[in-house]
Amino acid sequence: MKEISPNCAKCPVVVCKPQIKVDEKPEFIKAPNYCPMKNMSEVIEKAMSEYDKPDVGEFARLASIQEFECYEQTPEGRRTKNPRIVETIQFAQKCGYKKLGLAFCGGLASEAQTLTEILENNGFEIVSVRCKVGAIPKERIGIKPQEKIDGPENYESMCNPIVQAEILNSSKVDLAIMLGLCVGHDTLFLKYCKVPVTVIAVKDRVTGHNPLAALYLSNSYYKRLKSKVKVKLSDSVGVNNQTELLQR
Ligand code: SF4
Repeated sequence: MKEISPNCAKCPVVVCKPQIKVDEKPEFIKAPNYCPMKNMSEVIEKAMSEYDKPDVGEFARLASIQEFECYEQTPEGRRTKNPRIVETIQFAQKCGYKKLGLAFCGGLASEAQTLTEILENNGFEIVSVRCKVGAIPKERIGIKPQEKIDGPENYESMCNPIVQAEILNSSKVDLAIMLGLCVGHDTLFLKYCKVPVTVIAVKDRVTGHNPLAALYLSNSYYKRLKSKVKVKLSDSVGVNNQTELLQR
């Protein structure tokens, strides 16, 4: 029998977030066939046991309290109050973290400087590493002259998320913060970083690093995103010699 993959993004009932009182039970029976609560109970049970580890459980508890503290009750009702930078500072304080790592993209150097100042003003020690660290030419990873942004005749340092991660690992930071790493470079950073990681911003060159802006406009100015015509693959891509890429 074909396995049914979870499809929460299409779920019309959201039984997992019921509007009920604390002594009532969610109506699991109403969940769709693709609901992981129906089909993947063993996976859920195994994952839940992770929270029984004291460090993981405490981290999860603090994260949930952080979430709670980002709202406030007013006479007009519940409202949000903290931008992510404040949330990050508060969460790091809650965890007792002192030394924070900042892995940033050179395209956001000014933002990195401002963020460093803000974090230092809040008492943290900051270790920051730019994506180009190492000054290794892109040819080292097989980039062809015509695939360099600054042109074939110029030296172009590769973005180096593995070195960024290893520097933060060996600096023994308590928490690493990613700022504006590119798609794929962020994947490598996450693969190699061994300390807890959070993200302050992701790279989006055309939306001021707010990728959701394109989604918010996908019913109007960015309607083409929803077209059934697939996003075009660029001419220069292709996995070299059927190399196996990063595995799960
Ligand atoms: S977990 Fe189940 S009920 Fe919740 S959104 Fe996913 S499919 Fe819907």
